[in-house]
Formats: sequence, C-alpha cells, structure tokens
Amino acid sequence: MYALKPLKVYALDRVYESPECLVRLDRMLGGLGLDRAAVTVVTEANLPEVVAELQALWPPAVVPAGEVRSYLRPLVFTTIELSYRRPDLRPLLARCPAGTSLDTLGAIFGHMGTAIDQHPHQRDRIEDCVCWPTYNFGTVVGCSHGCLYCGAGRGGRFLSIALNLEEYMERIVGPVIENNPWNRVFRMILHGADLITLEPEYGLHDLFSRKLAQYEERYGHFHTGSGNVDWLADLPHKDRLVGVWSVPCETVSRFMEPGAGTPLERIEAGRKCQEMGIPVRYKLKPVIPVRNWRDEYADLLRQAVTLSRPESIGFSLYIWNTFESMSKTLPMEHLDPECVEAARAAAPTLKERERRVGPFPHETRRMIYQHLIREVRRWDQEVKLYVSTETREMWDDLKDELGQDPSCYVCACGSLAIPGGGLALNPGLRYSTYHPTPV
Ligand code: SF4
Repeated sequence: MYALKPLKVYALDRVYESPECLVRLDRMLGGLGLDRAAVTVVTEANLPEVVAELQALWPPAVVPAGEVRSYLRPLVFTTIELSYRRPDLRPLLARCPAGTSLDTLGAIFGHMGTAIDQHPHQRDRIEDCVCWPTYNFGTVVGCSHGCLYCGAGRGGRFLSIALNLEEYMERIVGPVIENNPWNRVFRMILHGADLITLEPEYGLHDLFSRKLAQYEERYGHFHTGSGNVDWLADLPHKDRLVGVWSVPCETVSRFMEPGAGTPLERIEAGRKCQEMGIPVRYKLKPVIPVRNWRDEYADLLRQAVTLSRPESIGFSLYIWNTFESMSKTLPMEHLDPECVEAARAAAPTLKERERRVGPFPHETRRMIYQHLIREVRRWDQEVKLYVSTETREMWDDLKDELGQDPSCYVCACGSLAIPGGGLALNPGLRYSTYHPTPV
C-alpha cells in the first residue's frame, strides 16, 4: 500500500468486535509501520473530542519537507453499517462541536453508500449525459491522492476505511451481482476513493475478484490514478479484474494531482497489468487545457499506445463545474488563455442543460477532442475511442471521427465492456444512455 503518514489513526470500537476486521486492521497498520498502540478507539462517549480533533488536524498548518500533503490525512477505520435500519446519528450530532456535519458522522460510523445504480437511462436523458447504466461498489470514503479538481482529493479531512469486507461481499456484492444479470462488469469506485492505493494489505480486490469468480462471466473494474499494481500478480482470480487508469498530461500531474502516480508510472502500471492478463483501459478524465495542452496530450497518447496496448481510450474535458468554481480550485496560471477566455465568455450564457458539461463551451471541448482523436490515430488505428459522460450533441458531432456508434460503444468502465474489447449485449441492456427512452 501507499506509504501513508497519517497525522492520527482512529478505529471505531465495533471494529474490535470482529476477528476478521482485526486481522485486516493489523495488516494495514503493519503496512504503515504502525501497531494498535497508535490507534485511538472511537466510542460514542469520546466522539465529540474525536470530531473536534479531526477538524483541528486538517488541513495541516505545515507539511514536513519531503512529505506528500494528502498522505498525512488522518485515517478512521470503521465498518460499513449494513443493518436494514441504520441508527439515527442526529442525537450524537447534537453532542458534537458546532458545524459538524451528518456526513462526517456518517463516515465515522460507516453509513456509506453500499451499491449505487449509476447512470440509469431516465436520469441520463434528463441530464443529457451519455454513459452506460451500471452498479458501483465501494468501501472507503476519501482518497489517498490530493487532486485539486476532486472534492475528496482537495477537501477531504480524513479517510474512512471500512474493514468488514467479508460481510460486505456476502450481503451486498453477491446479491447485487445475482439480481442484475444484465450487468457484466461492476465498478469498485464509490466515494471518491482510489482503492488500489491501499492494496494488498486491504485485501478488497482479492475478495472482490473471488466473489466475481463465483459467477459466470462477471468482472469488476478497478479505477485508479496509481501505479501500485505489482500485488495484482498474486491474486488467484485477477482474470476477473479490468484496470481503468485516469491519465493526466505532465502539467496536470505536476501541479494538480499531488500524491498520485505520474503519467508514465500509470502507463507502466498498465503495461504490467497487460502482462498479467488484466485488460488495460485509459481514460483522460479530466482533460485540462493547460498552456501547452496540444503537445503534452500528444506525448501522453503516443506513450499510452506505444508502451502498452490499451483496449480503449476515452476523453472527458474538465466538466461538472462553472467558470467560478474552476477559478477557485485550479491554478489558473497554468491554463491555456484562449480556452480560459472561451469559458469566461460562455459563462453568462451557458444554457441550463449545458452547465453539467461546463465551464468550457461545446466548441472548445469539441476542438480539444478532435485533437486528441487525431493524435491517437497517428499511432493506432484500432484502439476503441469514445467520449465519456458527454452530451448527445457531442457524440453526434464526433461519432465518425471516434468510429463508434453512440448507442452501443465500447468504453472503459461500461457495464457490458467485458475483457477482450467487446460488448456483452444482452436482453437486459442493449443500449447506452444515448439511446432514446420512453418518457
Ligand atoms: S467510461 Fe463509459 S461507462 Fe465509464 S463513465 Fe465513461 S462513458 Fe460512462
């Protein structure tokens, strides 16, 4: 696992009631060079002090020289609350310091989402989003990385790590797989976490791939910005996993993704996984138009397809933002002035339905995608290309250049995108959310 240096480590008292959780806790503490003596036990009695401490610890006043800021985040070991009626946390909230959110208590007490149906047709139609319906799993809230464009990376105060993974696999993952025969590839991705950064000590992907292997032709995506992959070689069911890397250009990596792998480390990780027989897919998400974006992304794409053999490469501009939120969170001095000006000029008139894909207007995004497509095709005529979570209009404009049918396209983490580069279309799901749905 990453060499995290948490400012403080906590564990909810109920972790100590489970032998399986304790084995996992000890293994992870060992990976950090710690032991149980370093852990503060969280009880209902000391909760107000713990919450106050968490608020004071982050953000840190100083980051010691040579340390990665995001690796200092406190860790809270917990268990996912799987009872039918989760306890009401509001009485506890009333005892906590002013300003404490229910989300903070939820993360400490494991009230995290267990499995979410993502991108259902109806919602994507309303939001003008083209994607594939799928199920997302996840067991950690918060991220080891510190990416500036990501809420968890930028603002997360601590990582909340659930330890009752055996129970989660039996009570959540297995039944979701059984109840959704149309879904062939599931995502392990929820809550902004980069889960493989905690492996192999965490043991999530070993359990996940073992669970998937209990069913015919079911697979799971891991989604990462990390190069931490050597441990995958030892998993007995690694053939059930599919690797999806978000890959940045150099400037984005250096100035906006502290703590994450460099572009070359991720491509090298992709190459290693390919040698292990694990399919490799790259997703440039977000593409950020830095000053030298044409050359930097051209270099990245050349390396991606000449150093490894990805099954697909996808593109998504920096979206889900306004000009104002971008200005507050990204180092604007590194961005391309023409693209910034286009976003500034478009801000007052961006139509309601275009805001999801803001702040860059359609023409700017399309122009950048066209460059990226051309650069891949200089080196590779075969790899499947797509735009991710874009609008129907963008697909209409680019489908010929991309070479895929927007109703039925191969991408990275689609629920039908099985290993080998094909689509496992079936009566339960035949079309992406581009396809019209009955109103
Ligand atoms: S890669 Fe495909 S399924 Fe995954 S988010 Fe993008 S469009 Fe959706």
